[in-house]
This record gives sequence, C-alpha cells and structure tokens, in this order.
Amino acid sequence: MRIRITEVGARDGLQNEAAIISVQDKVAFVDLISAAGVGEIEVSSFVRRDRVPQLGDAEEVFGQISRSGSVVFSALVPNVRGMERALAAKVDKVALLAAASETFSRRNTNATTQEALDACGPLVEMAREARISVRGYLSCVVACPYEGPTDPRRVREVVGRLLEMGVDEIALADTIGVAVPSDIDTLLGVVGDVLEPARTTLHLHDTRGTALACALRAIQLGVVSFDTACGGLGGCPYAPGAAGNLATEDLVYMCNRMGYETGVDLQKFFGASRFIARALGRSLPGRVYKADGR
Ligand code: MG
Repeated sequence: MRIRITEVGARDGLQNEAAIISVQDKVAFVDLISAAGVGEIEVSSFVRRDRVPQLGDAEEVFGQISRSGSVVFSALVPNVRGMERALAAKVDKVALLAAASETFSRRNTNATTQEALDACGPLVEMAREARISVRGYLSCVVACPYEGPTDPRRVREVVGRLLEMGVDEIALADTIGVAVPSDIDTLLGVVGDVLEPARTTLHLHDTRGTALACALRAIQLGVVSFDTACGGLGGCPYAPGAAGNLATEDLVYMCNRMGYETGVDLQKFFGASRFIARALGRSLPGRVYKADGR
C-alpha cells in the first residue's frame, strides 16, 4: 500500500517560529525534502506579509525551489488576492481554510464558519479555471480549544459543503492534538458517508503523543494520506498549548518498517531535519529524528 505524505513543515512549521528564516534557507530546506522522495510539499502561504512575516516571501521561495516533475508543491491561500499571487507563482495545488468550530473560526480567521465557506466558493472557482487541485483544511475536527469536543456531524456538514463547492480533497485537522484512535473510528464513521478515504487527509498533532497511534488506526480504516512536519515542527499560534505536527520521520519510519510504501528515503530526509534545526538554532521534538537522525 502506498501512503502519501504531505510535508507541511515549511508552512505550518515555520509560520509558528519566532525566527525568520531567509529565502535561501527555505529554498534549500524544500529542495532537501523533495530530494528525499516526499510526494507533496506545502511550501508557504500567500498571506499578507505584515500579518505573517515568517511567510512573507512566498513568491521568492516558489520562484527559486527546484520544481521536480513528480512532486506537488502547494500553498495555503486565504483570499482572492492570495489566490492571484499563488497562481502567478505557478503553485501546483492550493489549500483553503475552514473550521468545524465557530469560536475557533472567528478567532483564527476573523470569520464565522459560514463566512469562511462563502469566501471559499470564488477561490475554488479560480483554482478550477486554472486547472489546479484544491484542498480544504478543516480544523478542530475532534475538539476545539474554546468549545471542547466537536460533534462529528458538524464536521460532516462542513465537509459536505466543501465537497459541493468542488474541493478535491479534505484535510481533517486535529488542531490541538487530543485525538486517540477511537476518535478516528468515530470521526471517519460519521464523515465516511460523504467523504471517501481516497479524498481524506489526516492532519494530526502530537501534543499528547497519540498522533502516530491515530495515523495507524486511520491506515487500518483505509486512509492513505497524511500531513506531517519535518522533525515535528509546528503547532498553532491560535490554539493555546498545541504542540507540533506529527513528525514526518516518525510516520515514515513506522510505514517503511511495516511495508507501507512512502517513497521517502529516511536517511536523506534527516538531512532536511538537520538543516532546519541548524537554521532555527534549536533541536526538533521528533522521536525518530532524535534517535537516528541527529
Ligand atoms: Mg498543523
């Protein structure tokens, strides 16, 4: 079985760092990741430079990375202006944001869930006209830092709306990293009648050390696509206490050892982890990286 890994460290990771990494270092980081065999890389976000200075150089980074034919290079897009910039930068795929929780949506994007969905419509149209694929991120699919547990029927409703708009794939995000494997059973059980496994990506955070267990449960239930971050970079500035994403090395190590094909050469990937750890001037939390990669 083939597992698709989307490396989100360059966007979801670096967005949350206090340090600003140079364009040159970001380009080198992305090139090391693609050379290690990762199938998809979320490179940056076309947000306003004054809002997220860490990612204010999306055009420059996209302009300088090596665009290997088989790797999909994607970017987060918050609005029409961001989409215009992303299309001009020739991204392969765009990701749009929605939340299953009203409070999180308002605090994270300053819009209700309905307003966020309304804003997605024209963006999906623009992407389809440009013939690039669209992912919808849905945050707080298990719980919200403000509202507590999320009703999976609410998740199904928002997923259904995104699919009706023409979104190709949904990334279900456990934003605060509370999920345990039985939550994955519940979530996929409820969402499954509108969202087939082939269109499902899980975006897990390892805040409580349960992300890998949840990934394995999801694989057993037919999910083959996961977001991970180099060395476990990341977190969420709007979700108090949220630690890093599931580390790419941890998922790759497990999958490769179990005979699930990821296409990722772990030894080569460690080169990317060491590079970004040095650029950030700190160690990374990923377990396999700590054990074998440093
Ligand atoms: Mg994340």
